Amino acid sequence: MKYTCWGAAKQVTGSMHLLELDSGYKILVDCGIDYEDKDNKTINSHFQFNPKDIDVLLLTHAHIDHSGNIPNLVKQGFQGEIICTEPTAFLLDKLWIDSVNIQNNNFNRRKTARLYGFKEVKEANEQLLTVNFNQKFTLNSEVSCTFHEAGHIIGAASIRLEVTEENSIKTIGFTGDLGNPGSKLIVDPEPMQGLNYLITETTYGNRQHKEKRSPEDVLIEYVTKTCVDQEGRLIIPAFSVGRTQAILFTLKKLFNTGILPPIRVFADSPLALASSNIHNRFSDYLNDEAKNNMLVDGSLFDFKSLYLVEDKSDVEDMELYRDSCIIVSSAGMLEGGRIQHHISDHIQNPSCTILIAGFCSPGTLGAQLLEGRSMIRVKGNDKYVYAKIDQTDVFSAHPDTDGLQDYFEATHTDQLTKIFFVHGEEESMYELKSLLSDDLQKKVVIPSKGESFQL
Ligand SMILES: [Zn+2]
Repeated sequence: MKYTCWGAAKQVTGSMHLLELDSGYKILVDCGIDYEDKDNKTINSHFQFNPKDIDVLLLTHAHIDHSGNIPNLVKQGFQGEIICTEPTAFLLDKLWIDSVNIQNNNFNRRKTARLYGFKEVKEANEQLLTVNFNQKFTLNSEVSCTFHEAGHIIGAASIRLEVTEENSIKTIGFTGDLGNPGSKLIVDPEPMQGLNYLITETTYGNRQHKEKRSPEDVLIEYVTKTCVDQEGRLIIPAFSVGRTQAILFTLKKLFNTGILPPIRVFADSPLALASSNIHNRFSDYLNDEAKNNMLVDGSLFDFKSLYLVEDKSDVEDMELYRDSCIIVSSAGMLEGGRIQHHISDHIQNPSCTILIAGFCSPGTLGAQLLEGRSMIRVKGNDKYVYAKIDQTDVFSAHPDTDGLQDYFEATHTDQLTKIFFVHGEEESMYELKSLLSDDLQKKVVIPSKGESFQL
């Protein structure tokens, strides 16, 4: 069989991997949006293979850099099943609709290309087929697949394939995005076993998580300093799926146990609210702490001082609120979304802290703030930065260098012949490779985009 890396090659977004069996059967693993194609006119609009030829799509998780181009694949003729877990299927619908709205908005403002519309989202939804974790699923007489917990976001999977060709069985594992062991709400990653080939993410290949304290301790510090001592505002830009839920769940615990006074929390992202509901519905997929909490409270995120911003009147209420508060809003890197209003309104307020809860790609507004710039441009205006800017990696949804190495050790056997590094920056991949044992290093391959390998 032949493996071709069609996306997330020496970069973090646009995951897309093609397996072509000798029989002609074609499996695509993930079909994500490439963020480097900002106007959607090149990489995202043109597939390097014929979508009509793909027999099945296996999807690791719902994040848009893994799933966001699926409706476009459907638009261009893909008719096969899209196989994923149930929480992923529910998240997809929300994320794809959000994506259509963003594309329409950008089309009107910046003349970027529209990849698909609501019609293709509906069609893609109809092609979804959900599977359970740890249950082998037969695709045809020569291929079966099993979804394993990746521990990255709710429903995220690593996918192990068993392919029978010429009377021998070969096993290929796609990690998808892995999680950080010990994360809030999410279970730990389950390393795939008995692999001949591993295709692995390397997002934080050369980075160690700095924060050694618990999420509770980190939030106690920031909330106390900003909201209690200074009577100011704590603004936390966070991704809608995963990060926001981890933050709200932690805050709930701190308020309900009386560790923090009941400060008003505004959750300002419609997508995050939808995602929170999906977490409640599929709490069986979460870790023991979350499951126990669900049993006791019947909801993971409800607490008295939480204010969900859903419609215009909620926005008005929030804008009229003058006391100290916590605002959790998307997007995580501060590019677009409602967070930009909050940044614009509060960036010149010295008693406000903006706590960036994740990685910000170079060039994004989040990265500009972290560089320590004294002035930024937001919502069309230049503004001086008087708010305190800080960052925490305590809610990270990816393993760091040590976590990745632990995963490789747990997966590694003599029968593992190649480890393909994908979904990371090139420099970070080489650094990670240099840290591995000689035995593992010899097996590492760093594919370029479009490069094929006979497995
Ligand atoms: Zn992801």
